[in-house]
Amino acid sequence: MPELRAISGVGSKGPACFLLQIADRNLLLDLGRGPDEDRAPDLRDLPPIDAILFSHGHADHTGGLDLWPDLGTPPLFASRPTIALARHPGLQQARPLGGLGQILGVALLTGPAGHAPGAVWIRTVRLPVR
Ligand SMILES: [Zn+2]
Repeated sequence: MPELRAISGVGSKGPACFLLQIADRNLLLDLGRGPDEDRAPDLRDLPPIDAILFSHGHADHTGGLDLWPDLGTPPLFASRPTIALARHPGLQQARPLGGLGQILGVALLTGPAGHAPGAVWIRTVRLPVR
């Protein structure tokens, strides 16, 4: 059963960071910083992260990329506009995220969220059994 855990960004305005555990994969959704007092998510006690997916490029969703090496530099995924607008070199090299696809065997559907250039919603999906 998939599990979604809020690492940060729930209950008060803080850096967005969520752990999605699905199909034996640990996907981090956003790795933000701020928006107040340069606050970073507490990454202690996280399992090994297989990939980080970004919903959009605002600092409270991507500003924690300085912590990326602490997580073992797992592959990054973001929409093409988010990658194109990125300032962080790692995010500039991210793999594109869009439409229906798979990340490490996890089927995901994304679509435009409208909040910021390149912002996407992300939904897990079940692919038909062949
Ligand atoms: Zn935003």
